[in-house]
Amino acid sequence: MENFEFVSPTHFVFGRGVENEVGAKLAAVGAKRVLVHFGGESARRSGLIDRVSASLDAAGIEHLELGGVRPNPEVTLVREGVRLCKEGDVDWILAVGGGSVIDSAKAIANGACVDCDVWELFETKALDHDVLPIAVVLTIPAAGSEASKNTVISNDELGRKTGYANNAQRPKFAFMNPELTFTLPPFQTAAGLTDMYCHLLERFFDDYGAVPVTDNLNLSLMNTIRAEAPRVLADPENYDARANIMWAGMLCHQGLAGVGRHEDWATHGLEHELSALDPAITHGAGLAVMFPAWMEYVHGENPARFAFYGQAVFGLTPTGDANADALSAIDETRSFFASLGMPTTLAELGVEENDIEKMLPTLAQNKGVPFGSFKKLTLEDAAEIYRLAL
Ligand SMILES: [Zn+2]
Repeated sequence: MENFEFVSPTHFVFGRGVENEVGAKLAAVGAKRVLVHFGGESARRSGLIDRVSASLDAAGIEHLELGGVRPNPEVTLVREGVRLCKEGDVDWILAVGGGSVIDSAKAIANGACVDCDVWELFETKALDHDVLPIAVVLTIPAAGSEASKNTVISNDELGRKTGYANNAQRPKFAFMNPELTFTLPPFQTAAGLTDMYCHLLERFFDDYGAVPVTDNLNLSLMNTIRAEAPRVLADPENYDARANIMWAGMLCHQGLAGVGRHEDWATHGLEHELSALDPAITHGAGLAVMFPAWMEYVHGENPARFAFYGQAVFGLTPTGDANADALSAIDETRSFFASLGMPTTLAELGVEENDIEKMLPTLAQNKGVPFGSFKKLTLEDAAEIYRLAL
């Protein structure tokens, strides 16, 4: 097991109605003035923003609102949030939404505490500044951003989408009510399931040997997602299935499922370029296409690892030929994503062969070259993987 540091400061409040506890919990830690950050008008129409606001009012906490976060959140709205925080003396940020809203809130929380433009942090990866504390009311289980140290922001002007990691931006509170996810459309539920499963794959496949305590946790989360996915898609108001998925999404990405390993993250890099090329591409859908292609391209580095995965998650019987077993495990992975209704080719996402060249320069900027761990990838490798996914 490699040396590691693991920080997890998030106070989880989980279950029915917990969004009504936001005010009391934040007041208890001294919050005075909160920026409530959210996405589309559905958060308001559903009454959720009103319930959260009432909870803050009851606790005597002032609040202002900034809605309009889009999927693949963009730096322009982040800058607006930074301005509101600086001018409005905001001391906490409350994200009401899924990964996009939480990521936007994290960027604002950093930007509010620095003098430079917030995008500079995504370029320099600087860590030597304060970060405003963040609380989350989660409405979309997928990205795991409610407890993770990561944020990913797009910059349309530069045609970039890039990540920034900082333990100080891990949310201090995550309010998680599975009932808030009952009305998620099936595609969004499926894309979320795919994203959380891929957060496990990124950690399971790297150039390090076995780390049983981490690997077994990881594999058990994969099995949980596979078991709960059909239940939640068949019956969207199944509280227990929704609850298991919501908690799993957090566990997949808060860090524990990868401690002591190197982790890979090449495929997330490949996918981020797709969403930068076309912000209409849902992250989970892009991953469903790219992960099997990456697996096909790299499995020869360590077919036994893939064979082990196939046995542990899909119950495949070893044939004595690790390469054949690896290919079976990859087929099963593709079939699992397809069973959720996810796309299997770039063509289904509207991406063509001549788009590949456009993505490579920003991929190099965002990931550095070589990138990945299971196999160190060059830009030629990346182009080959995109081609496999066409
Ligand atoms: Zn992801």
